Amino acid sequence: MKVLIVGGAGYIGSHMVKHLIRAGKEVTVVDDLSSGYRDAVVAGAELIVGSIANAGLLDTLFAQQRFDVVMHFASFIQVGESVVKPAKYYANNVLATLTLLDAMLEAGVSRFIFSSTAAVYGDPSYIPIDEAHPKNPINPYGRTKWMVEQVLDDYDRAYGLKSVCLRYFNAAGADPEGELGERHVPETHLIPLVLQAASGRREQVSVFGTDYDTPDGTCIRDYIHVADLCEAHALAIDYLLAGGESARFNLGNGQGFSVQEVIDTARKVTGRNINVRYESRRAGDPARLVADSRLARQVLGWEPKRAALETIIADAWSWEQKWPWGPTV
Ligand code: UDP
Repeated sequence: MKVLIVGGAGYIGSHMVKHLIRAGKEVTVVDDLSSGYRDAVVAGAELIVGSIANAGLLDTLFAQQRFDVVMHFASFIQVGESVVKPAKYYANNVLATLTLLDAMLEAGVSRFIFSSTAAVYGDPSYIPIDEAHPKNPINPYGRTKWMVEQVLDDYDRAYGLKSVCLRYFNAAGADPEGELGERHVPETHLIPLVLQAASGRREQVSVFGTDYDTPDGTCIRDYIHVADLCEAHALAIDYLLAGGESARFNLGNGQGFSVQEVIDTARKVTGRNINVRYESRRAGDPARLVADSRLARQVLGWEPKRAALETIIADAWSWEQKWPWGPTV
């Protein structure tokens, strides 16, 4: 089986490449290295440095290789940036994705797996959030993902393109073997920031808001291990290859932890002091986001194996200690 992974040098994409290489699949990566790393693409995978906005590059690639499935991890992901630079997000997350889909249709490749997000739901009207929950994204990032999902519905109806959209809740953790992990610059996600404060690469971590309607006043999120995400993607490939219809699945553990609980757990796991600064709320953060992922379990047979928050943090901590990044990023 041959898989094209766009964005395969980034955080989740690179873990996916390793997962499939380990499973004996042929993997080609297209990544422009705008936020990915050449050395995050494990040996055995082919890396083509280039953009999915480059129709010529894609046409040449699809003419040379016959892919069974295409996986898309090449989106920009910073919510705050998407608010101040929406053009950047619409150009890459929507327009370049259309270019990729055009090339696939042209080449007759009809299976697509798309990294979507809980941000398509916006402020939840109920918890846990299932796939039928209304889609009201509250920022350009979430809107770009929801737009692509809608495009994919239309492309299935018109062109028979079969897609699985996987709506991630809070992706976290690192390769349990310690080879790969999160390397965002700038880093905006809670767990790596907490661990940078534990390792001393950062003086402190900020807690954005202590007055939410939650037991300890800090926001509650559903953290899901990147290795469990990869397993869900691999199952989604099997599902599409078996002739499955287009589908959308939430990927989360179904259990929420507050920002304060994450910090307390990180203190326990690392045995380190973690300095915390309590600040006011960050714009656009709902109090609680927790997934109902029963559909992925039922239809794909997915079962998260590294669901415990301690495990997620322990794997991310191994990576934080291993990687010689040097100064705070
Ligand atoms: N958060 C925080 N301090 C930080 C980064 C994040 O308190 O330095 C909070 C954020 O407000 C949210 C949760 O941690 O409630 C998870 O944020 P993250 O950016 O990791 O993911 P998001 O839920 O925004 O996708």
